[in-house]
Amino acid sequence: MSNDFCPYCNTNLQGETIPKESQKAYGATHFTRKIGITSIEADRFIKWQCPDCNKEWQRD
Ligand SMILES: [Zn+2]
Repeated sequence: MSNDFCPYCNTNLQGETIPKESQKAYGATHFTRKIGITSIEADRFIKWQCPDCNKEWQRD
């Protein structure tokens, strides 16, 4: 998951590097700038929102 771009404005959504000791807990090496949109029924992230263009797209 190194390529993390907004499908609309193509901005780079990769955030800061996660400190090495926390990478295992996050299961990733970098934070993400994407905003998770939750559904009350699903109780999980169902969509992402871009912090730059504010567009939303379905989670894979
Ligand atoms: Zn965008």
